[in-house]
Amino acid sequence: MAELVQQYLDRIRAEHADVTEGELACYIPELACVDPSRLGLSLSLSDGYVYESGDAAIEFTIQSISKPFTYALALDQSGQQAVDAKIGVEPSGEAFNEISVDDTTKTPKNPMINAGAIAAVALVPGATPDERFNRIQDFYSACAGRRLEMDHAVYTSERDTGARNRAIAYMLQSFGVLGGDPDEVLDVYFRQCSLKVTSTDLARMATTLARGGINPCTGRRVMDAAVVQRTLSVMVTCGMYDAAGDWVSAVGLPAKSGVGGGIVAVLPGQLGIGVYSPLLDARGNSVRGVRVCRSLSARLGLHFLTVTRESSSTIRARYDLCEGVRVYELHGDLLFAGAEQVLRTIEIERDDYDVAVLEVSRIDDINDAARSMLAGMRTALTAVDKEGFLVDPDNKVVPTGIRQGRDVIVFDTLDDARAAAKEFRAG
Ligand code: GLN
Repeated sequence: MAELVQQYLDRIRAEHADVTEGELACYIPELACVDPSRLGLSLSLSDGYVYESGDAAIEFTIQSISKPFTYALALDQSGQQAVDAKIGVEPSGEAFNEISVDDTTKTPKNPMINAGAIAAVALVPGATPDERFNRIQDFYSACAGRRLEMDHAVYTSERDTGARNRAIAYMLQSFGVLGGDPDEVLDVYFRQCSLKVTSTDLARMATTLARGGINPCTGRRVMDAAVVQRTLSVMVTCGMYDAAGDWVSAVGLPAKSGVGGGIVAVLPGQLGIGVYSPLLDARGNSVRGVRVCRSLSARLGLHFLTVTRESSSTIRARYDLCEGVRVYELHGDLLFAGAEQVLRTIEIERDDYDVAVLEVSRIDDINDAARSMLAGMRTALTAVDKEGFLVDPDNKVVPTGIRQGRDVIVFDTLDDARAAAKEFRAG
């Protein structure tokens, strides 16, 4: 069966393998020394299973794909408030290396352009540049599920030619955005950009984001779900620089590119993609990387704004347990809209029963919004002299320990609920 997916990837890669458009990045001299014909593609599913096609084992420098990860680390370590005070979240529509800040706030417009990325480095705690860099290296490695190392030649090449980034860092210092010494912050930035990855590493890092911060291979939580949500948001609006609008329309995945030739793309809840091909377009995005992602998205239906057929129902079954007692069995993932549908159905049918029993043992996942809505069902029913019970043996809706409260009455089995319902009707 796995061959089917493999064939898809191989075919898509083959379709774009002959494209020779684009240029190697040369403003960092060492980046021009790579083989321009390379093309690697990796797809990692949410359980960590990886499909690879072409040059998926070739290492290249992560460059700007480091930006969302350092931003995530800064959010995780310094908190959103501190980060928001120094870096905006608005698309800039400018080139990645624009020497600019927001007109009003005088802070970088977003963390995906160099100005914002350099500011993010300064928000990663560390008493020395080494300490700060080690934290960054550890964090990326935890996302990839293996130790990532630096490419020293690329690092020195960028350090020795990085006049533009120096201009940006000193400008940030003048606006009070950089806490530390600009040269020290820049050194850490150059080091993070020169960490080596393969397209498979990128796919795994993407899947860590797709899984809400849990590395699919190690099972380790690397960052908070709220941090992931913020990071993916800025990847959507700013990840592909001045091509962000094009990208969202055609590919529709939160993503980030780097001048090393890599692209990382995330389908939240489902999968991560890593592509490597070093020939770049005028905006610094990999030419074949973008094309491969377009094809993948179109052929595998990955656009994150695809409107799927409304999931037929979160109510998997509905029946009368005995006279006057109606059971609603729920399943699947329950979010706001699903919970609303359940409550509305119970409300519409309330003349048909005395007791509604919500059986939630088959729910896979539930968020806080849905949880508090379902837990509020009893209050609404008792107000019209009805009763509402929950059958929740695994405490999916109501936290452990709570069995009888003013708002909820919870049972472990349908039989227990039936006995209580009979008593209610008799009494
Ligand atoms: N290290 C590169 C720079 O700062 C990263 C740029 C990129 O990948 N777009 O210029």
